Amino acid sequence: MRRAPKLPICEHYEIYNGNPVAVLFRIEGASKTLPCPFCAKSHKHASGPAYDGHRNDHCGSNITYKSVRGYLYEVKLTPDEITASDGTIIKREHGYIIRTINRKP
Ligand SMILES: [Zn+2]
Repeated sequence: MRRAPKLPICEHYEIYNGNPVAVLFRIEGASKTLPCPFCAKSHKHASGPAYDGHRNDHCGSNITYKSVRGYLYEVKLTPDEITASDGTIIKREHGYIIRTINRKP
């Protein structure tokens, strides 16, 4: 039997409107972000530090199907919440914060 996948760890978050919000980095000059902690894909936003800041999440509802004893179940691949290394729960519904940086954090 396969073990359940571990929830992704989000190392960087900021408090925005009282909620912990994941920080999504992008390298200066790139419009695509580093992989998103929720969906593991890059998101594209208008480039330049002027466009940094809070955004609603662009994660698609990434789902797959799993057959168990003849029944088909929907399995969510994009979690609704992730955990920071300090134990803080970060919800996808709060979106994320785009930050432009010079090199990988
Ligand atoms: Zn995403």
